[in-house]
Amino acid sequence: MEFEAVIGLEVHAQLNTATKIFCSCANRFGAEPNTLTCPVCQGHPGVLPVLNGKALTKAIKAGLALGGTVARYSRFDRKNYFYPDLPKAYQISQYEHPIVIGGGVTVVRDDGSEHTFPLTRIHMEEDAGKLVHPADTNTHSLVDLNRAGTPLIEIVSEPELHSPEDAALYLTELRAILRYIDVSDCNMEEGSLRCDANVSIRPRGATTLGTKVEIKNLNSIKGVSKAIEYEIRRQTEALACGTAIVQETRLFDADREVTLSMRSKEEAHDYRYFPDPDLVPVLVTEERINELRASLPELPRARKKRFMEQYGLTPKDVGTLCASRELADWFETAAALAKNPKKVANWIQAEVLRILNAKNQDIADFSVSPQDTAGLLNLVEDGTISGKIAKDVFEKMVTTGQDAESIIEAEGLRQVSDSNEIDLVIAAVLAANPAQVEQYRSGKTAVKGFLVGQIMKQSGGKANPALVNQLLEQKLNQ
Ligand SMILES: [Zn+2]
Repeated sequence: MEFEAVIGLEVHAQLNTATKIFCSCANRFGAEPNTLTCPVCQGHPGVLPVLNGKALTKAIKAGLALGGTVARYSRFDRKNYFYPDLPKAYQISQYEHPIVIGGGVTVVRDDGSEHTFPLTRIHMEEDAGKLVHPADTNTHSLVDLNRAGTPLIEIVSEPELHSPEDAALYLTELRAILRYIDVSDCNMEEGSLRCDANVSIRPRGATTLGTKVEIKNLNSIKGVSKAIEYEIRRQTEALACGTAIVQETRLFDADREVTLSMRSKEEAHDYRYFPDPDLVPVLVTEERINELRASLPELPRARKKRFMEQYGLTPKDVGTLCASRELADWFETAAALAKNPKKVANWIQAEVLRILNAKNQDIADFSVSPQDTAGLLNLVEDGTISGKIAKDVFEKMVTTGQDAESIIEAEGLRQVSDSNEIDLVIAAVLAANPAQVEQYRSGKTAVKGFLVGQIMKQSGGKANPALVNQLLEQKLNQ
């Protein structure tokens, strides 16, 4: 029997507000434990939470950017459960009346086709604190409440994804959108974007859903794909030997790339949700929604489309360039000054990203400006230097911070386009390789590539390759 996987994703994104969602403590990662807390986020009895307006604004912007309907009326509920990192023993969340209903994430596949994965809802909630398990003891754990009260949005997809690849595309696009609109830094390593995956399988063609398993602890896009891949395999094997799937929560072990049973899955009624009496309902006016809609920047998908039309780029090019707003901005700054924007796109993918990866840097930290990069590529375009020399010059631009002109001038790298000068080199190379010349003239014309290589080498890479080809052909056919 053939099985089909059914996957739904729940993504928690920490909003990048200055302060927490219900108190004025700083919302910041990496501070000394328990230094960013107050009675509200420590869960003291009798304190009153007050909603952070900026968090609401960011939640609404996310909803609009994802094509959802912003609720004019929404409300906070208490989700009751006990855990040591949750001192109130309930989390303030939204259950019955979330801030956003519907929406979708549209991905563009490498072949250019588009697919929209629908969303169920987006709701606001507070993050919990964090348990710390010291390596030198197994007698106790510690609690750090700095994260308690960090504003979150939970973005819940419909169970309409069917493969690990779908999940990776969905998350990549979702992360790009949230970053473009500046609601979250989506740093998965620091936990500001976290994903839980609900995975079930069913016989292909079936309309009812199989028993689902929830996988937690997924902190990279690769981890999400790997966990889903493992889970599909595990469930398929179980069903194939007639073992029932247990509804449960499983943890992903990223080192071993397996999922492990953690606990049986809670149902919504286990949480005893009820309206939080400390918080007033949230009313949003139509004017406010329209104002926020108008404030949205160009989103990744629109930008990709425009890049393809305006600069003649491929779906693969724009997928890479528009992955972050900063990289897309960098490209556009360079492209505006470049004689050949498509070459800028190629250069970013082949050279810039390679160097950034090797240095483990972001484009924001890159030592070469987009203006200087356009300058370099224009010198290739007008024949001042060859593409090969340009790579060496670029490496030097990266280490010295100088522009291309200065490096080319200082090192005498200008391309030689003087045909007399090139003729001399050609004559020398042909004299040194009589056997290859003979081969060419007897019809084995492929040997020309070897001769061009020798000429370029002799000229220190500086001979104009187009001119070399043209002059060499003349000489060989004489
Ligand atoms: Zn606080």
